[in-house]
Amino acid sequence: MNYHARVRAARGLMARRGIDAMVLSVGSDLPYFTGYVAMPLERLTMLVLPVAGTAVLIVPKLEAPRVVEIPDLFDVRPWGETERPVSIIAGLLKDAYRIAIGDQTWSTFLLQLQEQLPSGMFVQASPLTSELRMRKDSDEIEMLRRAGAAADRVVARLARTRFSGRTERELSRQIAEWLIAEGHETVDFAIVGSGPNGASPHHEASDRVIEVGDSVVCDFGGSLGGYWSDTTRMFVVDHPPEGFEEPFRVLRLAQAAAVDAVRPGATAASIDAVARGAIVEAGYGEYFIHRTGHGIGTDVHEHPYIVEGNETVLEPGMTFSIEPGIYLPNRFGMRIEDIVAVTADGVERLNTSPRDLVTVG
Ligand code: ZN
Ligand code: ZN
Ligand code: ZN
Repeated sequence: MNYHARVRAARGLMARRGIDAMVLSVGSDLPYFTGYVAMPLERLTMLVLPVAGTAVLIVPKLEAPRVVEIPDLFDVRPWGETERPVSIIAGLLKDAYRIAIGDQTWSTFLLQLQEQLPSGMFVQASPLTSELRMRKDSDEIEMLRRAGAAADRVVARLARTRFSGRTERELSRQIAEWLIAEGHETVDFAIVGSGPNGASPHHEASDRVIEVGDSVVCDFGGSLGGYWSDTTRMFVVDHPPEGFEEPFRVLRLAQAAAVDAVRPGATAASIDAVARGAIVEAGYGEYFIHRTGHGIGTDVHEHPYIVEGNETVLEPGMTFSIEPGIYLPNRFGMRIEDIVAVTADGVERLNTSPRDLVTVG
């Protein structure tokens, strides 16, 4: 990754938007610019990046050995157990007025900084960092492609698996194991929603035993090389439940139409409108209860969000999910999810496993 280019780009944006300094702590922004992941602990880690001049990474002394230094990118300032890191940072920021602070920074540190810098004006860093992180370079797309392919191999394994007689939790654990076996370093969710449980989009796997005639939503992902996978496929045990096939046909077409609509120049909102329009027209609009998708990269949910009202114009390098769903309370739910990348003249699917209903035993 070219961290120097990223920091240069950030400083260009900061200058244009009148930001004097950016401070980043836990979350994905700090590693995006430095390769360093702050430990989410009570000891403060923070990068102070002024619009011009030297950037400084303030880290607890005992964590300093974890830092991989990058020449000319930032200096490291370890702090000892009896020092006050907030005072060190306040000292570095004393001439800054508008300060952009990472969204996931703990409030305790922001409150202390505000107390020490009463004339500082703190603003969110995400409008700035998302502007850069939203446009992936070819290395990043390649990492997302690998993560997607690994998740697709797990779908193929699932298609050969017996579902009936097993609990959602067992199947979820199995999915997690397979994601690791296929190269993921972390598994962050493995939703298994069988029968009526599928009607809750973020259902946690439970002890419900999967039965013949159930439909099952499997939605899972984790990170591979720091980049995320996230895919959803639909399974039925022996045969679909009554009334399932008609809405599934609608969903299948809505999802495909939304993917096909992705191209540079389209807006995020217009992609949501394509998926939603098809589902509304078929009479299931009130059962599609979430946005069509979310950006994905070093976070599983990031910009751009594929949602009504988001007029962000799609550009090559943007990556996001297309995941419409239909949820019929107390009966079943269904969702199909692919990660896609905007290309120079259209779209590339980063998930290519079959999207049709998969019948399992
Ligand atoms: Zn979700
Ligand atoms: Zn998902
Ligand atoms: Zn998703």
